[in-house]
Formats: sequence, C-alpha cells, structure tokens
Amino acid sequence: MSPALLTGSAPTRARFSFEVFPARSGAAALALGHAVQHLSAAGPDFISVTYGANGSNRDASVDLLKYLRDHTDALPLAHLTTVGEDRETVRAAIHSIMDAGVHDFLALRGDPPRGRTEADPEVAGSLSALELVELVAEARAERPALTSVGRTSVAAYPNGHPLSRSRSEDIDWLVAKQEAGAQFAITQLFFRAEEYLSFVSDAQRAGLRIPVLPGLMPVATSGQLRKVAELAGRPAPAELTRELDEAGGYAPELGVEHTVELASELLAGGAPSVHLYTFNRHERVLAVLRDLDLLTPDPLR
Ligand code: FAD
Repeated sequence: MSPALLTGSAPTRARFSFEVFPARSGAAALALGHAVQHLSAAGPDFISVTYGANGSNRDASVDLLKYLRDHTDALPLAHLTTVGEDRETVRAAIHSIMDAGVHDFLALRGDPPRGRTEADPEVAGSLSALELVELVAEARAERPALTSVGRTSVAAYPNGHPLSRSRSEDIDWLVAKQEAGAQFAITQLFFRAEEYLSFVSDAQRAGLRIPVLPGLMPVATSGQLRKVAELAGRPAPAELTRELDEAGGYAPELGVEHTVELASELLAGGAPSVHLYTFNRHERVLAVLRDLDLLTPDPLR
C-alpha cells in the first residue's frame, strides 16, 4: 500500500488494488494463475484474497496468498473471518497466515455459513471484526521482529450493514474499528458515487481518519448485477439494468463503462484509490484502469 493512502495525503496519481478468490477447480486455478500475473504486472498496491466463512476454504486461501507472494510482485492481503470459530482457532489461523509470509489482513466477522442465519447462536456469538483487529495486533506483538510489518484493514458499508439499525451505528462501529487499530477500510459494493462520498464525509465528521477505499466491480452479466444490488442494499441503476437486458444479459463493456464513470466521480470527490473486485478475471478491471488513465501499458500483452 502506498504511504499516501495511509497518511491520507493526496497521491500524485490515483492508486488501485484488486480482490481475487481461491479457484474452485484445477482448470479455474490455471486461469487464475494467468489472471494474477496480469493483475500483478499492473502494479497494484495489493491483491486481496477472500476467505470462506467457517474457515471453509482456508487452505485454498493460504495457497493462493503463497502463490501471490512467491510468483508475483504484488503484496498479498489476507481476508480473515471469525464466524463459527473460537478464539484459539482464529489465533492459529492468523499465525499460519503469518508463517506463510503474509502480514496484511482484512479483518472480518464473515458471512453466516450456508444454511445458517444471523440469529444462529454460532453466528451471533462469533468474534466481531473489532475483536479480530485486536487479535491480529496481539499476534503481531507475539512476533516482536515483525511488529512493524503488515497492516490491518476492515470492511465499511456506505449503504449500511444489514445488522446495523442506522447510519450512525455503522459509522460508530467503523470508528471503533479504527480505534482498535485498523489502518484503512474497504467498502462493500455500491453503484452511486454519492453513496460513498456522503458516507465518508459523515464518518470523518464523527472522527474517522483512516482512508476508505471504495470497492467497485465491473459486472458482465445481469446475474452479477443482481448480486451486486443485493450486496449494495440498493437497486441497480435502471439504465444499466435495461441496457444489459437488451444485450441479452451479457455485455462486459457496459460494466466497464459504468465502473469508469463511477470511479472518475469518486476520485474527483477525494477517494484515495479504487479497490476492484476482479471476479478472477483481469481483462475488465484492466480496461477500467486503462480508461481512467491509471495504467501504463500492460507489460504482459
Ligand atoms: P463487523 O464489522 O463485526 O459487523 C458488521 C456490522 O454489524 C457493523 O458495520 C455494524 O453495523 C454491526 N455491528 C456488529 N457488531 C456491532 C456492535 N457491537 N455495535 C454496533 N454495531 C455492530 N465475508 C466472508 O465470509 N469472506 C470474505 O472474504 C469477505 N470479504 C469481504 C470484503 C469486503 C471488502 C466486505 C465489505 C465484506 C466482505 N465479506 C466477506 C462479508 C462480511 O464478512 C459480511 O458482510 C459480514 O456480515 C460482516 O462482516 P464485518 O467484518 O463487516 O463485521
């Protein structure tokens, strides 16, 4: 991560980072290896790797983090969740990720595992993201030689998390994660610049000082658009929905166009960088960065 993002001072050129998830088959793993080479060659601040609820794909996440560390120039950042696991298991997971040479974390509570709901005692009783930030700090302290290595980030929800009753509760919770030691935040997906900009400005008025990276995904299909709307907690823009439907439900160029417009507004409004959800493909996110003029020509092309 560039120092400018951490201090909040304006970088000369906007920066970017990527999210990938572990492949679910051998063929997908080969394609992912190819994609991360292109993503890494673009020079991101970091590439984050998702983590399955309940530690369900923990080994695959750690393998992908190691692959990034050993075979690319990108800084790997590990998502880590607590849901359904006790404190000692989570502590062991932090140490095994650090043993793999990865020291940057996105500390999350995690989604309820398949078949469980928020009301399930196993889910409701999980350590919160705030407690995980503290646990990561404790684990770092147990490795004195490495205390200055690695950073902890947390999730933020511009349109509110389903568990929160109000924007102020979401903001208070984010500020509490900052006070526990989080050094930057990454947002849930959203469609409109105003949703991010007003959230960040309200949060800053409430004491937030850490950078908030907007999370964006260039969708290619109507199905992806519906999924993003679900995560965003807001309907997708009517025009994008209609145009995708008219194109037969598949039009990657429309997702790129929408993401470029959104990112331009966000960066003009003061966003420190953009965090792109890649869906394990490099073409669309690199097209977005190229159109934003944030990319030197892809050296692998
Ligand atoms: P928390 O910050 O602990 O809580 C979420 C919200 O609940 C808070 O914003 C707040 O509104 C409310 N809340 C909780 N506790 C309190 C409290 N004590 N007081 C007041 N309010 C409270 N899930 C995965 O399973 N794997 C992943 O890899 C993954 N990656 C993600 C990456 C990003 C960028 C984002 C935004 C989400 C990701 N998620 C992932 C989903 C996330 O784990 C879920 O949204 C989960 O429901 C909440 O996790 P959290 O870390 O935000 O939890």
